[in-house]
Amino acid sequence: MVQQVVVLGAGQMGNGIAQVCAQSGYHVTVVDISEQQQAAAQATIAKNLARLVGKGSLTEDDKIATLSRLSFAQAIPHADFDLLIEAVSENVALKAKLLSEASLKLKENAIIASNTSSISLTQLAMVTNRPDRVIGMHFMNPVPVMQLVEVIRSLTTSEATFTVVQQVIEKMGKTMVVSQDAPGFIVNRILMPMINEAIFTLYEGIASPEDIDTAMKLGTNQPMGPLALADLIGLDTCLAIMTVLYEGFSDSKYRPCPLLRNYVNAGWLGRKSGRGFYEYGAK
Ligand code: NAD
Repeated sequence: MVQQVVVLGAGQMGNGIAQVCAQSGYHVTVVDISEQQQAAAQATIAKNLARLVGKGSLTEDDKIATLSRLSFAQAIPHADFDLLIEAVSENVALKAKLLSEASLKLKENAIIASNTSSISLTQLAMVTNRPDRVIGMHFMNPVPVMQLVEVIRSLTTSEATFTVVQQVIEKMGKTMVVSQDAPGFIVNRILMPMINEAIFTLYEGIASPEDIDTAMKLGTNQPMGPLALADLIGLDTCLAIMTVLYEGFSDSKYRPCPLLRNYVNAGWLGRKSGRGFYEYGAK
């Protein structure tokens, strides 16, 4: 049974995953090498919970109890975790290094889940000492709001691991879909080429960002236009996912738009850096 969770990475996904885990009753340690990211995550979670209290969907006592289940650290502090959820940057070398190191530290029966948007779970499983206990848990952004968790079975994921993760997702009150291990899984295989095509539409001077987003919002009933969504996801993450699709399928239809590459080169990563296709004020 899962009681203690470690969330590796306190970025926009890590802090949301940590909040939802703590609200579901798990004791959560959030690990990030950046103290600034730890502090930002703590502040974001406290603000989100206070907003829920303000709306009447959480009691003050539940808020205090949730916060008391959360702690922050720069490295995994002990071995006693039942589940690790990794949410560091979308970089295969970084994830492989951290998961390999973590697997040496965690107790034998702990499960390792990755929130990767696109990277092969089988590849990540094989760098650990427990390929049968590695699985994909792909949350959506913002995690406390979005209902879906996409579960990815690697070639080596055991049925027992799948069942435990299914129970955790049920306890969170979220809805699960299951994907086999293929580049981009379900959501990003479909979503990211659309976002990339929107960036090509801008790159080729076909329309302004506002008109591209308005066209897709009002014309196809999407709550957010693709460029605004790319800014929310993070343009570095979008580029990393397109690169995984491009290389994983060896198919030129997934080539990342050069404009996306250039925005990432410029450090215009979207909301998290204050500028992407839109401006969000200095960060
Ligand atoms: P982010 O840039 O907001 O956060 C990444 C975090 O990883 C940072 O806090 C960084 O300090 C930390 N980190 C980097 N190296 C580390 C290390 N060695 N040890 C500990 N922490 C380290 O990124 P994000 O948007 O939260 O994305 C994280 C993961 O979630 C990626 O795999 C991404 O593909 C996936 N994801 C993102 C979204 C989205 O919409 N952004 C949605 C679903 C899944």
